[in-house]
Amino acid sequence: MRAETSKAFEMTDETPISLWDLTTEETALSPEMDGDITTDLAIIGGGFTGLSTALHAAERGIDCHVLEAKKIGFGGSGRNVGLVNAGLWLPPQDVRAQLGEERGTSLITTLGDAPAYVMSLIERHQIRCEATRTGTIHAAHSPAGYEDLARRTEEWHRLGAPVDLLSREETTAKIGSTAFHGGLLDRRAGTINPMGYVRGLARAAMAAGAGISIGVTAQKLTRIGDRWVIETDRGQVSARFVVLGTNAYTDTLWPGLKQTFTMIHYFQAATEPLGAQGESILSERQGVWDTGRIMFSMRRDAFGRLIVGSMGRVIGGDKGLSRRWARQRIRAIFPELVDIEFEKFWHGQIAMTPDHLPRIFRLADGLYTPIGYNGRGITPGTMFGKAMADLVAGGHEGDMPLPVTNPSRVGSTGIRSTMYDAAFTAKQIKDAYRR
Ligand SMILES: Cc1cc2nc3c(=O)[nH]c(=O)nc-3n(C[C@H](O)[C@H](O)[C@H](O)COP(=O)(O)OP(=O)(O)OC[C@H]3O[C@@H](n4cnc5c(N)ncnc54)[C@H](O)[C@@H]3O)c2cc1C
Repeated sequence: MRAETSKAFEMTDETPISLWDLTTEETALSPEMDGDITTDLAIIGGGFTGLSTALHAAERGIDCHVLEAKKIGFGGSGRNVGLVNAGLWLPPQDVRAQLGEERGTSLITTLGDAPAYVMSLIERHQIRCEATRTGTIHAAHSPAGYEDLARRTEEWHRLGAPVDLLSREETTAKIGSTAFHGGLLDRRAGTINPMGYVRGLARAAMAAGAGISIGVTAQKLTRIGDRWVIETDRGQVSARFVVLGTNAYTDTLWPGLKQTFTMIHYFQAATEPLGAQGESILSERQGVWDTGRIMFSMRRDAFGRLIVGSMGRVIGGDKGLSRRWARQRIRAIFPELVDIEFEKFWHGQIAMTPDHLPRIFRLADGLYTPIGYNGRGITPGTMFGKAMADLVAGGHEGDMPLPVTNPSRVGSTGIRSTMYDAAFTAKQIKDAYRR
């Protein structure tokens, strides 16, 4: 199976963008654009958002076509940690405080139920993405982090969610390390190989009748009468509706859209399969992220690799600072692991909003974009894509999971990105040389 995968890979791509790209059993589809296209719904971006929109639109009988500049999953969708999270970054009470009781509760419910929906899509379309359903652990990096988790647990319990506050001992047993002060186990969540999931969505969307063209960059959007004309480097596309699913990989296609979020990086390192020496490490296969301000994550894959990550980029290629960082972090958490070798380092872009809430922007008549997932896009991308299909099928903006708003620019996004980058690099250096 894996030999087959790498053959398909050689035929369609040049460089694997992540471990997931190297190892997924879902084949990379490579449909090319063949002449001008007229459709009801054009979707720009071949990630979770774009392909969920396409799948759900095609299932509703809407003629639709996805345009992807590089390859399916090239953006965050093929590079992430693979944590299928319930809810948002923000605790539920903060979501309600910002969106109001009704809209806030509705969003929390939609995203709280979203892992189950993602898993149902995986099941229905037989997506080969190494899905696990043993939950995720939000691990306390400090006593203050544990107090924060206790507050979150209380709120989730009030909402009836199946989450458990783990003691230090319970966390140690699940993670196989004494490094954490406790944890919040969310039983709704799970993990996937995200490249497998996004390729599977593409396969399912095509099977349902959606068109997909990769290697096509949308360069200009013009309103002509009641239609949009998209100029690309491969020809023109005319559509009644357009959904941009470009998120943190947004380019200059729609003026000002790139200025609605701050772009940061997140990097990861994957070890070789650990074999017997890794038996007690995350033996139930929960994905983990911590309460640190500069977040740290870790998980296992289906082949026993350990994957660790944090905010920032890969520095110094495969042999440089990030390798030293990964070795040091793993040694600090799992001192029993010796002589760890790494198979892959990679990073990706995340779109952060000032209040950590995602957005659904109405850019113009018939032109929408869900954007700004703040590093949590598997479930929102899937659900907002579905909502976009509902809207195009005749639904109302008021029924969207989020208020549909006009775009609002964030000041100095470039400077902010640079400042975050510097802070993340400083932390990477500090951790890499910690004794
Ligand atoms: C390293 C990392 C770790 C993360 N970890 C998690 C996690 O564990 N769990 C989680 O839920 N989320 C996580 N996220 C966030 C999640 O990956 C993203 O929110 C999600 O993938 C966004 O999906 P999307 O479809 O909206 O956009 P993307 O997947 O980013 O896709 C955008 C696509 O648009 C294309 N594009 C851009 N401009 C054009 C154009 N002009 N014409 C044609 N195509 C264009 C790009 O090539 C790209 O493929 C992580 C993100 C990163 C980077």
